Amino acid sequence: MRYSALSILKNGLFGNKGWKPAWRTPAPKPHYDVVIVGGGGHGLATAYYLAKEFGITNVAVVEKGYVGSGNVGRNTTIIRSNYLLQGNNPFYELSMKLWEGLEQDFNFNAMVSQRGVLNLYHSDAQRDAYTRRGNAMRLHGVDADLLDREAVRAILPFLDFDNARFPIQGGLLQKRGGTVRHDAVAWGYARGADLRGVDILQNCEVTGIRQSQGRVLGVETTRGFIGCNKLALAAAGNSSRVAEMAGLKLPMESHVLQAFVSEGLKPFIDGVVTFGAGHFYVSQSDKGGLVFGGDIDGYNSYAQRGNLATVEHVAEAGKAMIPALSRIRVLRSWGGVMDMSMDGSPIIDRTPIDNLYLNAGWCYGGFKATPASGFCFAHLIARDLPQTTASAFRLDRFERGYLLDEKGQGAQPNLH
Ligand SMILES: Cc1cc2nc3c(=O)[nH]c(=O)nc-3n(C[C@H](O)[C@H](O)[C@H](O)COP(=O)(O)OP(=O)(O)OC[C@H]3O[C@@H](n4cnc5c(N)ncnc54)[C@H](O)[C@@H]3O)c2cc1C
Repeated sequence: MRYSALSILKNGLFGNKGWKPAWRTPAPKPHYDVVIVGGGGHGLATAYYLAKEFGITNVAVVEKGYVGSGNVGRNTTIIRSNYLLQGNNPFYELSMKLWEGLEQDFNFNAMVSQRGVLNLYHSDAQRDAYTRRGNAMRLHGVDADLLDREAVRAILPFLDFDNARFPIQGGLLQKRGGTVRHDAVAWGYARGADLRGVDILQNCEVTGIRQSQGRVLGVETTRGFIGCNKLALAAAGNSSRVAEMAGLKLPMESHVLQAFVSEGLKPFIDGVVTFGAGHFYVSQSDKGGLVFGGDIDGYNSYAQRGNLATVEHVAEAGKAMIPALSRIRVLRSWGGVMDMSMDGSPIIDRTPIDNLYLNAGWCYGGFKATPASGFCFAHLIARDLPQTTASAFRLDRFERGYLLDEKGQGAQPNLH
């Protein structure tokens, strides 16, 4: 059913009895044209664009848990396209443009809120680096504003401008950046894909990948064997595990990243603010809770929970930026498993196995990429050609030495 103001009114008048489930619960078919492993944001978006843009509807999304149980429902909801490198910037800007029309496109309220993303700088050198990034953004047609200290003070007067170690000198602002309600993105794509005929198979874990003569025949799952012409992996933090079932070793490590939500407060932070002298980012949800996070825990893990040392580290960075944070109470925290690539950039590519495709390596920035990732992965699967904006996200770039090292940290996944 199509959601509209009229449908809300009609259902409100008749006791809200007319709503139908947002997607079906089908039994797995024996064979599909395309099977996608992972019902997170990227897998569901891929299915949606395969059906909508390329007319491929005989598709199954195979998810071991429920839709939204992975990182798509665990992230801190930040979207932005403030990238420096040529290989990254056009892709993230494509994503931003897709976010801007997404709710109308898939007819679902995802609460896309372009409230701005501000990265603070604390030294002359950091200001110069941000100026360079801002100029690169503008050259790509992306909005960017460099704010000085007083301009930042006018919008966020409660920051610790005179912190002894990390005084705030200004910030790089992307006004079109902001937040999107993360689980609604999964639900919207799931509903949109289902409406076009895609089967979403929840509680269906892939346990093996059956191959013959260098081709994938299908996947072994907890609900039986499912055959396919093409297999697409979008398992985020579990990518290495799933790829290993096909005999592939990925240039990737899995790490934990935690997120935190405070008690509800009156509105005081309009947009997203990030600390430039450590790793801390914060926004305020529509319910009033501060949503924040920081560094990854720093050790390899597949556990969806983190440790107290990182909680302390995040709290310290937060307090250095906003001293008043020491008074708030944290209500909830959780962890997600990050697919950390060696250079901090993703992979959307074919694999050495003919009909096996890979979407992975999103580190902790994959939520903002969801629409473009789905669109470009669908393009690759449908046409066997990379979409132009994603053509740098090659799997073999690590062998060839063409790293996409946006942060300049080197080949160190735990540092990206
Ligand atoms: C705490 C935290 C904060 C973050 N903050 C941000 C942010 O502010 N902005 C941003 O851009 N990014 C952020 N990220 C990163 C972002 O959430 C991820 O990069 C992105 O969600 C990954 O893609 P996905 O949605 O497809 O992943 P997921 O939702 O994890 O989807 C992968 C799915 O694959 C399934 N799966 C795995 N193995 C199997 C199997 N064997 N069989 C079947 N299914 C399987 C999993 O159950 C999972 O549902 C954050 C992540 C975390 C954890």
